Amino acid sequence: MKKTVVVGTANPDKLKELRRLLKGLDVRVVPIRYYGRIPKIVENKKTFEGNAAKKARIYSRLSDHITLADDSGLCVNALKGKPGVYSARFAGPGCTYQDNNRKLLKLLEGKPLFKRQATFNCTVALYQQGRRLKIVTGTCRGRIALKSHGRNGFGFDPVFIPQGSLKTFAQMSSKAKNRVSHRAKALTKTKNFLKRKLET
Ligand code: IMP
Repeated sequence: MKKTVVVGTANPDKLKELRRLLKGLDVRVVPIRYYGRIPKIVENKKTFEGNAAKKARIYSRLSDHITLADDSGLCVNALKGKPGVYSARFAGPGCTYQDNNRKLLKLLEGKPLFKRQATFNCTVALYQQGRRLKIVTGTCRGRIALKSHGRNGFGFDPVFIPQGSLKTFAQMSSKAKNRVSHRAKALTKTKNFLKRKLET
């Protein structure tokens, strides 16, 4: 019988990407909501690793299966690495993706493209029954666009131009984004680990 990997995220946009990125692995991918109400986790750690580990550890206690959680965000050089781990609530509690993008563009107003370097980070933690199995990280360097472009994706996708591209993530197809994104890189490492683990 196929093994199960539980994906611990309450964010439907991230779940969609994670599901796609886990394709090719011979496992059943099950979202955490299958195990009842998703516990509210306060993401109060100062690092992506701290938050990813906290989420995966708590979610992994809801089933016997290997459980994956990610913590991700955008670090902007000109803002000394902000919003970083606070990316989701950059513009304040209850803010929308659009509020966050507006705030970011406002803070960078007047800065030319070469002063708009930024890095997306995605840290994935794998836990089982409260025990840590693996933590991996993927990054994607790029720049913050002068204004919003495109409708695909989520979060900061309309304002992030990955290195080597002229388009924002939101102007790219999900396939193209998944070739270079921070989450894709972290998931490649995750898949390699899981392949080895599931063989043993
Ligand atoms: P968290 O990992 O749930 O704490 O939230 C991460 C936040 O970072 C999201 O709400 C987005 O604002 C942003 N983010 C993370 N990954 C991406 C991405 O691939 N595209 C756009 N925004 C992202």
